[in-house]
Order: sequence, then C-alpha cells, then structure tokens
Amino acid sequence: MAPRFYFIKELGDNGKVIMAERTVDTKTLVIKYGGTSVGSAEAIQQVIAQVQLAREEWKQVVVVLSAMSGVTDLLLTAASAAAEGDEETPRSTASALMERHDSTIKGLLSSKAEREITRDRVAAHVNEFSSLAPAVYVLGEASPRALDAISSLGERMVVHLVAARLRELGCVATTVLSSELIRTDAQFQAANPDMDVTRTLTRDILVPLLDDGVVPVVTGFMGATDDGAITTLGRGGSDYSAAILAVAVDADEAWICTDVDGVMTTDPRIASNARTLPTIAYREIAELASAGAKVVHPKAISPVLEHGIKLSIRNTFNPDGPNTHVLTDSDTGNQGAKAVTVVKAHSLLALEGRGMLGVQGIAARTFEVTARTNASVTLIKQTSSEQSICFAVPQSVAQRVIEELEREFRHEFKWKHIDRVRVQHDIVIVTVVGAGMRNTPGIAGKVFGALGKRGLNVVAIAQGSSECSISLVVAAAEADDSVRAIHELIVDSHLEDEYE
Ligand code: ADP
Ligand code: ASP
Ligand code: MG
Repeated sequence: MAPRFYFIKELGDNGKVIMAERTVDTKTLVIKYGGTSVGSAEAIQQVIAQVQLAREEWKQVVVVLSAMSGVTDLLLTAASAAAEGDEETPRSTASALMERHDSTIKGLLSSKAEREITRDRVAAHVNEFSSLAPAVYVLGEASPRALDAISSLGERMVVHLVAARLRELGCVATTVLSSELIRTDAQFQAANPDMDVTRTLTRDILVPLLDDGVVPVVTGFMGATDDGAITTLGRGGSDYSAAILAVAVDADEAWICTDVDGVMTTDPRIASNARTLPTIAYREIAELASAGAKVVHPKAISPVLEHGIKLSIRNTFNPDGPNTHVLTDSDTGNQGAKAVTVVKAHSLLALEGRGMLGVQGIAARTFEVTARTNASVTLIKQTSSEQSICFAVPQSVAQRVIEELEREFRHEFKWKHIDRVRVQHDIVIVTVVGAGMRNTPGIAGKVFGALGKRGLNVVAIAQGSSECSISLVVAAAEADDSVRAIHELIVDSHLEDEYE
C-alpha cells in the first residue's frame, strides 16, 4: 500500500482545522458514462476499453454509471401506470427490463459463471421492481419516495454488467451502491447531498478500494437519507453523482463521457453543423446547462471546479475526437456568443392590470406562489411601467401555478388591481450564451435580425443577470428554426478562428 500523508484541507468554522489524507503520488480520475454509453453490449465494450486505458495512466479510477438508455423512463412510466390502476404495464416492463439486460449480458460476457451471477443480480432488481409496482398500484399513488426507489433500479442493474466484464478482462472491479456513499436530505427526486457525511462515507468505503487497486463501478443518480431511504438527485443526475464523488475522493480530474463530442455550439440533433467548443468557462457552461443543454447536469459543475478538479466532457464513441475542457471564469477569452440552447415545453404566464402600478409586494407574492407550487421559474420579465409581471414555468406545472395565483390574488382581482393571468402555452426558451457578449455590442440586434429575416417571432426577451446570456421566448413550432438561425450567426462569426 502506498504511503499516506496528511494535509490541511480547509479551516472550518471557528478556525477548526480539517485534516484530509491522501496517498502520495496518487492520481485519481472519476469517469462518468451516460445512458447511451452503456446502452448496448457494443457500447459497453467501448467503455471497458477506455477504462482499461485510463487504468494505465491513472493510479486510481472511479467509474460512475447511468442506467442503460431508456431504462429510467421505462421505470418511471411503469410506476405512473401502476398508480393509475394499470397492472399490465408494470408486468410487461419487468419482462422488458430482464430481456434488455439479459441480451446485453449475452453479447458482453463470455464466461458462463459471470453470465449467471450477473443475470441473477439483475433478476434480483427486477424482482424488487415487481414487488414495488403492486404497492404503488394498491395505493393508487406513486409518492416521490416510491418513485426514487423504483427509478434508481436502472443504475443498480447496469453496474453489474460493467464490473463483470472488467473482471473477465483481468481488472479487479467491484460494484458500489452510491446509496452507501452519498448521504442526502429527504427531498426525493431532487435530493441534496450532505458533503461532510458523504466525504466520511466515501473515505471509509471507496478510498480503501482505490488504495487496493480496485476499480469501483458506482451507481450514478442515487443517494440515501440518514435512515436509509433511497433518494435520487434529479433527472440526468448521474453527472452530479460523479461531481459529488470527485470532490469526496479529492480526484484530480473528472470526465463526463457522453454520446457527442463534448459541449457544442448547439445540440447537434437540432443543427448538424454544430461544432465542439474546445474550452468553455464555468459560468458559460453553468448557464447553458440550466438553459436546457442536457449535455451536463447544471449542479455537476460548481462542486468540481470549486475544488480545483479538472473537468472535461468527452465522447465515449469518439475518444480521440474533439472534447471540451471547462475553465475557470478568469481563464476565458473574450469571444462573443458561443452557444445556443433551448428548453422546451414551457408556458408563459403574465399577471396584468393597470392597478398593479405601485402596489407593494406583487412580485414577491407571485414568486412565493411559484415556490409553494414547486415550479421552477425559467425566465422573468417585468415591464418598467409595472403593469405586468411575466414569467415562464414548465408547462407541466402551469395550471397548478395559475390556480394558486388566482387564489393568492383573489382580493386584487376583486378590486381590479389585477385584471387577469394571461397564459400562453407551447412556448420554448432559446438562450444564447457567451461570457464575452457583454463586451460585444450589437449581439441582441444581430439575433433579432437573424430571426426577423426568417419570419420568426420573438414573444418575450430577458437578459441573464450574469450578462452572459440572452433568453428569447418563441413559439414551440418555431423552436428548432430559431435555434438554427441563431446558430448560423455563431458558426459564421467563429468560423475562421477557434473552431478550425
Ligand atoms: P448522457 O446519457 O450521456 O448523460 P444526455 O442525453 O443526458 O447524455 O446528454 C447528451 C445529449 O445532450 C446529446 O446527445 C445532445 O443531443 C444533447 N445536447 C444538448 N445541447 C448540447 C450541446 N450544446 N452540446 C452537446 N450536446 C448537447
Ligand atoms: N438515469 C437517470 C436519468 O435518466 C440519471 C442519468 O441518466 O444521469 O435521469
Ligand atoms: Mg445526461
């Protein structure tokens, strides 16, 4: 075992010294693979090859996995179906889950013994699903807690496949449940980690494995509360799991490996000429991720960068291709607009009324309502005349917010201070991001020009508080065209320099 030394990690409140231990010369890499990267036997072979390569260069490698692509959706759909009194969908889902993992096991593993053990382990999780679904059916309700127990099963299944294949190839690998490592609060479906407890658990469980040269294959997405209830970190949350574990093990680097060449100028599914951004600033990627670019989970970025851990986004299927390094804000250049993204399925709500002028506290009460209804507000716009407050929320919660607003402001409606809540469904929010935009005059003008030229109508606009983004509301039917129009501007303006 390599020698250890201790260093002062940080000074806690009241100056208490918090010590941390590290193995001398240890280089630790956390690699996270997303759903498509583990979506088939062929994809998993790519993952395995990369982990083996990484093992040659890095002393310690932690692998964090998402469920096979589509599996989390399947689990959640089956849980909702059970809650609505459908017994058949959970049954067919159990068979589909077993069949999908089993055929992957057959394509992936060559030893009969590993195949059988892995199949049994997956079957145990499928059985767990088959006993949870009837409970949801009987209750007629899928509580957030039940949904977390169910939706985390995909991660719990796939880790066995990857660890088994690594072992077949002579690498000492073991599965680790992140519920043993990541301690969270009880906010099911969007749980928050307790980093102090998580660090201790990780030091007790994960670090000894790493010191012994074992590759831990850890479930992404899930954690557990103090009393052992399974939680999840929110959809797409495996990136966040990787970030939490990278911090907890004091990793040197974290790689988010996905199915595209890093962070691109836009979603390549919308514009096929999207290009990889070789570097992106912390602030830019944070803004992009929160504005809908699914490529990284918004919560995954700050923990990693705040701890000085290098972060990159790579393509599992094109490991030698272009990728993106995330830089601290001070490292970034002064480029204008860098990327454009879109978040779909939103509604725009506006509280309107001449009588609103000067009435105290309307904005505060409006956003108390959205907080109470658990609706995340994606965009806010207030006119200077104070005669309306306009904001966007996901369409799925819009009706609930409207009803609550009508209740909250019932007196103002009666006294005609507020005339109505105006709603526009089927809108999307297109966001242009770039830290250099605030020093580049005329970007908003160019963006509107590009949209106007194609007859695309902007319903509302808002500038991000960091001045590193501009968001536009457009109709859902014009979403992709609007993104493509703005993307052309970005690609044109950078064609000669960085992307060549
Ligand atoms: P994973 O399963 O690996 O976590 P996700 O599906 O969550 O992958 O995220 C990757 C997807 O993000 C890509 O396939 C791409 O369609 C989408 N995406 C959206 N915006 C961007 C962008 N600006 N750059 C790269 N990918 C993007
Ligand atoms: N499997 C989870 C999801 O689909 C977590 C993830 O993919 O990051 O949301
Ligand atoms: Mg993802």
